[in-house]
Amino acid sequence: MCRHLAWLGRPRSLAELVLEPPCSLLVQSWAPRRQRYGTVNADGWGVGFFSPGRPAPARWRSARPLWAAASFASVAPTLTSGCVVAAVRSASVGMPMEESAVAPFTDGRWLLSHNGRVDRAVLPATRNAESTVDSALLAALAFDRGLDALGPTVQELGLADPGARLNLLAADGDRLLATAWGDTLSVLSTADGTVLASEPWDDDPRWRDIPDRHLVEVTSAGPTVTPLT
Ligand code: GLN
Repeated sequence: MCRHLAWLGRPRSLAELVLEPPCSLLVQSWAPRRQRYGTVNADGWGVGFFSPGRPAPARWRSARPLWAAASFASVAPTLTSGCVVAAVRSASVGMPMEESAVAPFTDGRWLLSHNGRVDRAVLPATRNAESTVDSALLAALAFDRGLDALGPTVQELGLADPGARLNLLAADGDRLLATAWGDTLSVLSTADGTVLASEPWDDDPRWRDIPDRHLVEVTSAGPTVTPLT
């Protein structure tokens, strides 16, 4: 199971969001605290972020461990954004090991990351997927259906593959959407903005755990949590 996070709020550097918190994604790449499947997330990392005046996000991905990304660590303090999706990967058994298999995936304005696994047999074949990894096929399906249908899409896949774990996290520059379906998800809202993360990046008592089988939408007004029943 990979670990991912998204930020919507006051512009912050990628270092502040991904590298510097005491239990950052960087630390989670070798010592996650809540990971249920897999022990380390060493099969790649990715960051997607929006910049003013550019509707499509920029991405920086790699198939190497985040702890080995010295150039990223050097540049990350200078890159700031008010909307970011980042992930570290622990590849599921049998999945390709390549940069194009690492989240976040993208289509137009959207970024999307997936924590989990899903039987590729229940996903429609598509030429739009960036990789043959289950997460890329799932992202292509979510993009095809439209992110406003994220909840129904996850419910449908959960029925088709009862063993699927479908924690998704998406952003379009103005809002975040996330599902908790089979793995952990937490949210922290402050005056500066909202972070959604597979696990808290510190011990701030304001972190809230999202219950399983719930959808979270985050706008500038904060998070809204609804059940996926
Ligand atoms: N199934 C996806 C992959 O192989 C995601 C894995 C995960 O969440 N650990 O990359």
